[in-house]
Amino acid sequence: MLLYMPTKVYSEKDCVKNHAKEFASFGKKAMVVTGKHSARKSGALQDIEDVLQQENISHVLFDKIEENPSIETVMRARDIGIQQKVDFVIGIGGGSPLDAAKAIAMMIANPALTEEVLYEAAELANLPVICVPTTCGTGSEVTPYAILTIHKQRTKKSISHRIYPNMALLDAKYLKSMSREGLVNTAVDALAHLIESYLNTNANELNRIYSREGLCIWAEFKYRLKEDCLTEEDYVKMLHASMVAGMAITHTGTSLPHGLSYPITYELGVPHGKAVGMFLGGFVEGYRNKEEVTEVLSLLGFENASDFRTYMRELLGAVEVSEELMKENVKSLLANPAKLKNYPFEITEKELMEMGN
Ligand code: NAP
Ligand code: FE
Repeated sequence: MLLYMPTKVYSEKDCVKNHAKEFASFGKKAMVVTGKHSARKSGALQDIEDVLQQENISHVLFDKIEENPSIETVMRARDIGIQQKVDFVIGIGGGSPLDAAKAIAMMIANPALTEEVLYEAAELANLPVICVPTTCGTGSEVTPYAILTIHKQRTKKSISHRIYPNMALLDAKYLKSMSREGLVNTAVDALAHLIESYLNTNANELNRIYSREGLCIWAEFKYRLKEDCLTEEDYVKMLHASMVAGMAITHTGTSLPHGLSYPITYELGVPHGKAVGMFLGGFVEGYRNKEEVTEVLSLLGFENASDFRTYMRELLGAVEVSEELMKENVKSLLANPAKLKNYPFEITEKELMEMGN
């Protein structure tokens, strides 16, 4: 069993300002990578800009990361980073800007290489990365993964390289600008990471410490999330659950709900957490090791799998997916051993077709 979690994590109110002094150790010039609006709206960008100024670190802002970032956008940012000779990258936002920041940091550190290298097996260096999450879903601030959209293949895929952020700064105040829908979708992504990590070929007693912790926390706010009456404290819990969920999948990877979600997001534009969540109830209900299912459900505070499936359906609402798209989705999943390897049992086309909500 192996536990490896190298990212330095600060989690507290005002942590960006509290740890300003550490930024200088990463260099003299930063590239700040964000989405179009939320980094500003949440107040996180202002905090970072204040700290950079205070520490005499210059920066270039790339604020054009789209949801489900594409290879093309990563390469545009990389060109600017190389030209501006930046020393490190700061990602602010949801999983999209954080994932993009990792890929950009690697591509800047290897200026002679082209985009093909993103999906090739190679040991490559990357610039240091600092992550400031503003959603409570992906855990990307601690995971080594970066998921990019490949338009040529009409889907999304994790790049081949493992890029651990050097530092993650978690302040729940940045979640307050999120819409209810955004909070629900991202919290469900974190829940999916916890469950898919626990019910996983690579799960063991050591790495399950993360999923156990996260499932217990998720249990505490689950009804307030559904009833839309979250408290201040819940925001802290949601961010924490998301981070430990990231640590969980760092050790195990995700499983079928994530595998099935990518074409749904690409073809229908369904947000990541919702696209994953639509398969989560069915995944738990159909999972063959009933003892492990009972463990997960009891940590989460559900009586049985059917109650959990109902909760998920009510929380997310229905997602309409045509039979044709689902068939194609299932066929391509079954043809890809890499996507099945984290699921410890045989799975049939029929079972996969019935996994959706
Ligand atoms: P996201 O795609 O980063 O952002 C979704 C939307 O939420 C955007 O419109 C964004 O606005 C907005 N937003 C973010 N923070 C906000 C805030 N505090 N207030 C108001 N609006 C806010 O969402 P995400 O669900 O966090 O990330 C999804 C991506 O992460 C997917 O590409 C997924 O595949 C990937 N992912 C990565 C991992 C991993 O381990 N690396 C794991 C799971 C998923 P702006 O566009 O203006 O920023
Ligand atoms: Fe996810």
